[in-house]
Amino acid sequence: MSGERPTVVVGAGPNGLASAIALAQAGRRVTLYEAAATIGGGSRTSGMTLPGFRHDPCSTVHALAPSSPFLARLGLERFGLEWVRPEIPLAHPFDDGSAASLHRSVDETADQFPAVDADAYRRLIGPLMDRRQTLWEMFLGPIGGALPHPGLMARFGVRGLWPAPTLAGARFRTAPPRALLAGNAAHSFQDLREPGTSSIALMLTLAAHADGWPFARGGSQALVDAMAALLRELGGTIVTGHPIRSLRELPDDATVVFDLTPRQILAIAGDELPAGYRRRLSRFRYGAAAFKLDWALSGPIPWVAPAVRRAGTVHLGGSLAEIVASEAAVAHGHVSERPFVLLTQPTIVDPSRAPVGKHVAWAYCHVPAGSTVDMTDRIERQVERFAPGFRDLIIGRSVTTPSDFERSNENYVNGDINGGRQDLLQQFTRPVPRLDPYRTPNPRLYIGSSSTPPGGGIHGMSGFHGARAALKRP
Ligand SMILES: Cc1cc2nc3c(=O)[nH]c(=O)nc-3n(C[C@H](O)[C@H](O)[C@H](O)COP(=O)(O)OP(=O)(O)OC[C@H]3O[C@@H](n4cnc5c(N)ncnc54)[C@H](O)[C@@H]3O)c2cc1C
Repeated sequence: MSGERPTVVVGAGPNGLASAIALAQAGRRVTLYEAAATIGGGSRTSGMTLPGFRHDPCSTVHALAPSSPFLARLGLERFGLEWVRPEIPLAHPFDDGSAASLHRSVDETADQFPAVDADAYRRLIGPLMDRRQTLWEMFLGPIGGALPHPGLMARFGVRGLWPAPTLAGARFRTAPPRALLAGNAAHSFQDLREPGTSSIALMLTLAAHADGWPFARGGSQALVDAMAALLRELGGTIVTGHPIRSLRELPDDATVVFDLTPRQILAIAGDELPAGYRRRLSRFRYGAAAFKLDWALSGPIPWVAPAVRRAGTVHLGGSLAEIVASEAAVAHGHVSERPFVLLTQPTIVDPSRAPVGKHVAWAYCHVPAGSTVDMTDRIERQVERFAPGFRDLIIGRSVTTPSDFERSNENYVNGDINGGRQDLLQQFTRPVPRLDPYRTPNPRLYIGSSSTPPGGGIHGMSGFHGARAALKRP
């Protein structure tokens, strides 16, 4: 009977596509509706500056995708996906012309630090690396998946629960490894002094050692195009340029999985949800926003520190104290004069994205939700600080403000690109505190977006878990 029932996924981001594939693999007739003219949500590629330059408006660095238990087993290479790995996943330059690098190898990373910190790095990361597969399954799995491994959970949890500056200060004596850890923790979009920020830093560090933070050759669109090709092969239908505004637009008995955040779900299906659940969804907290620049460049960025020229991702923020101050300012509703900046330079390993000899790069910083402050000069000054002459290379620039983000994708509420605040509390209670967060009280309706665990990032796991919940519909 359930095989006959229509199944709809709303939103063709990486999680929506993951949901649709998992449902189609289980034999469901799936239709995927996407509001935008193209599929992909936060995983797209387009021409944003000059002819011949291919930019990713959103994600570029696939820290989690290759290790995703769901994406990894889809065989997307068959549909043209190719991972390209920079020689160094991440570099973090300093004002004296040096840089800390996060290499694939734990030993190579440790050995760049003075002996006392080299040992500390090995002691912190080594044991977690040995158990990384289990850690991945715990963190990308459904809530409760951590319980079968209490020893490992305790080892990771003891460190991960600490605020990042506390862990960095307790573990390391010198500035470079402290700054490296703080930069990874800043991916959390939070005041780094909050508990739990170390867990983000540790997971991203492990991902860099394990998989090298690769790019998709040609741009992030390649990932979702491969997913769409697989979905079509499984018999699924994709309808683009078709925003869903009400459940009444969908077949009466359809099972629906939303790749949307609570605000849109309330607008579309609020009438079909009990008041108590509606109230809890409306209390969902959104986070800080991003302000982003995409550049077309006439040459590679002239970083002073040679290692940075070989790194796919670059963290610009100087010392731990400076990064902590920058993120604290945002958490208190201000922009930072010297913002912590995340930069990617994919053309150092993937020349297919730009004309011969030319490059693309993007960089963003965090700003308060809905901020209207132009951060262009502040971001470019941070690049120029570690790469003098950078501005002379800019031949095209595209600016994306928090309101531009929301206009391009309603999921980015006030410019929050993470599907909601991802602090320690909401990490385990997104979108509402509930044993099975992917189910709503209405047996037709399910959620599989980054507003559910494990949260933001390209991994498809939220969509997969949303689909699994929907497949249990009686
Ligand atoms: C600037 C930026 C940089 C990022 N960098 C990285 C990175 O390097 N690495 C990484 O792992 N992650 C990165 N991310 C985060 C990542 O893109 C997101 O976490 C991820 O895309 C979330 O996937 P999703 O499927 O849950 O939602 P989304 O990707 O947001 O997809 C939701 C889809 O639903 C559609 N939609 C919305 N409303 C409706 C409606 N009413 N009807 C139909 N369709 C609708 C939207 O148009 C969109 O296509 C970045 C994000 C941004 C914006």
